[in-house]
Amino acid sequence: MSFVVTPPNVASVPVVGEEGRFPVRRVYCIGRNYAAHAREMGHDPDREPPFFFCKPADAVLPAAANQTLDLPYPPKTSDLHYEVELVVAIGKGGANIRVEDAMDHVYGYAVGLDMTRRDRQQDMKDLARPWELGKAFDGSAPISHIVPASRAGDVEQAPISLHVNGQQKQNGNVNQMIWSIAESISYLSEYFRLEAGDLLFTGTPEGVGPVVTGDLLEARLDGVGTLSVKLV
Ligand code: MN
Repeated sequence: MSFVVTPPNVASVPVVGEEGRFPVRRVYCIGRNYAAHAREMGHDPDREPPFFFCKPADAVLPAAANQTLDLPYPPKTSDLHYEVELVVAIGKGGANIRVEDAMDHVYGYAVGLDMTRRDRQQDMKDLARPWELGKAFDGSAPISHIVPASRAGDVEQAPISLHVNGQQKQNGNVNQMIWSIAESISYLSEYFRLEAGDLLFTGTPEGVGPVVTGDLLEARLDGVGTLSVKLV
């Protein structure tokens, strides 16, 4: 097959213990999947269930093993926020996946950051417009290596945290998610056919906040690993 312009590279993420990388097809994200974070954003988690939005596949910024990732401070914001999240890598596709079958579709797990232009997101909320300007910018999805599910710890009960310049800012546990991993996969698969290569950012615990150029972000998910990002 020939192309009239050079086709884009496939975004991909390294996998612990494998030579091959995980190719990224789509990036789905869940909003307000932790009750305390929904409240800190001014919402009542008992009245509004979580929901989905997307980032482009090439917004994924994969970390090399044990190296700090440089993330350029994005343009058009003065309120860049971190959101530490468990990321689920889908290994087997499907539509209308039952909750009891959903974990069979998981390839592995990573820890990621749903970086957010909070000021632009708020503009879009105020105007009832889509969130792309706030959520889908280049480099908005830094991610650690992926750990195959068979090698990961008990991710469903895993502490998840974020430190900025050595100070703890977020501290939660995956068991606080409103939609579990299996429920998230099942629900999402009713709206979109999932395929191998899809990533699912599963939402953030409370404690989100701004960062500036020079800050060092350290995301940790027990049983999966850490992700270090420096804003440059
Ligand atoms: Mn998020």
